[in-house]
Amino acid sequence: NTCVHIIGGGLAGSEAAWQIAEQGISVILHEMRPRRTTAAHHGEGLAELVCSNSFRSDDAQNNAVGLLHEEMRRMNSLIMRCGDATKVPAGSALAVDRDHFSDMVSTILKNHPLIEIERDCIDELPPADWSNVIIATGPLTSDGLSHAILGLTGEDSLAFFDAIAPIVYKDSINFDIAWFQSRYDKGEGADYINCPLDQAQYEAFIKALLEGEKTSFKEWEANTPYFEGCMPIEVMAERGHETLRFGPMKPVGLIDPRTGRQAHAVIQLRQDNKLGTLYNMVGFQTKLKYGAQTDIFRMIPGLEQARFARLGGLHRNTFINAPKLLDQSLRLKADPRLRFAGQITGVEGYIESAAIGLLAGRFAAAEAKGESISHPPMVTAFGALLAHITGGAHAESFQPMNVNFGLFPPLEGRIRKKERKPAMSERALLALEQWRQSTDSAA
Ligand code: FAD
Repeated sequence: NTCVHIIGGGLAGSEAAWQIAEQGISVILHEMRPRRTTAAHHGEGLAELVCSNSFRSDDAQNNAVGLLHEEMRRMNSLIMRCGDATKVPAGSALAVDRDHFSDMVSTILKNHPLIEIERDCIDELPPADWSNVIIATGPLTSDGLSHAILGLTGEDSLAFFDAIAPIVYKDSINFDIAWFQSRYDKGEGADYINCPLDQAQYEAFIKALLEGEKTSFKEWEANTPYFEGCMPIEVMAERGHETLRFGPMKPVGLIDPRTGRQAHAVIQLRQDNKLGTLYNMVGFQTKLKYGAQTDIFRMIPGLEQARFARLGGLHRNTFINAPKLLDQSLRLKADPRLRFAGQITGVEGYIESAAIGLLAGRFAAAEAKGESISHPPMVTAFGALLAHITGGAHAESFQPMNVNFGLFPPLEGRIRKKERKPAMSERALLALEQWRQSTDSAA
């Protein structure tokens, strides 16, 4: 029984189906639309783009998602092939005609001799005789399947919202002001970066939060309950002037080394990846618009020049705590016949979702053929993204993330800032080529 079952014909599921079939293994792709739909999809095509028509930057030298595009092209990606073929003018970004794109993906998969498409909703755990399964049901996974997964993973390992605190590049933090310390000096070391505010700065910050432009919840999001633990900071600020000072901005147990005293309020940042290049602002999920966030967060002493790897948000999004639950080959440790791919693994974005679909497809195909699984090198965009979700990120603070250069191992030696991204890209593409040749020759 070497057939692979894929649940979900979105970006990840479509790419996975193609990769598996191209390795000579048969696939059954289960897609619930049009029988059932989600709150974001409109049609019945495979790989429907639910919002923007952009795959973001196509600059492989200076942008991590551009690099991921290029790596995917070299790995025979269906999503990239159809994206390139249906592209519309968008400067240095790759944007596509969404209908042509989805039609092309659907047609190619439908006509592939090894792919069967079934329009059914798998709303519970897959039957026991499906031995090789990929779950790629996306951010709006059907309720029944979500609850079945919840039963396997436990309450605190499946989220229905991403309560995203902004993530800052450490090298953009001003350490003349910010300092390392854990509250009450607890724990093993000085794990947190602290930014102090005096009373006037705190007052101005609260005022800006209350006045800042916000995005509203969509109707279908408003009906999904969220926990007190992921309340947006501006909602906390509305509850009372001092609420944040008793919540995520509490100053107790922290001494500003410049004054020798406790500050009026403190914002803490916690390490977000193993490499220590990214830090998240603890408890700072928000529905403020992106422009407002950058302006307001740069009011924080120490963050005047902050660069953000991602801004805060709060959206309906089903995703598992991948670093805790998955092995390096994207299999659920608790039930290894189930592999996960796409946004549900905690990556963010069309291309990242498709990229994890590509890897899951290749891993599942290798398994079906009885071959050993070959993982992409950590210095490639594939490898950096995979490492992030299967162990690089901290399980306690895991939130979905786009691909970015902060996830890559630092370069060796001293390299000028302007040359770092191109150097990382060059390193990535060289390593990718070696990996590709080794996997192709094994096949
Ligand atoms: P999807 O593309 O959603 O595919 C999942 C598929 O599984 C769907 O076709 C669904 O019908 C099917 N399915 C679900 N449950 C079952 C079941 N039980 N049985 C059978 N089939 C099932 N990313 C961007 O890069 N740019 C954006 O502009 C963007 N906008 C977004 C807007 C919204 C509202 C949301 C929710 C997400 C957005 N994303 C965006 C994030 C993400 O990139 C997309 O959601 C992307 O489609 C994820 O790919 P996927 O393959 O994981 O999931």
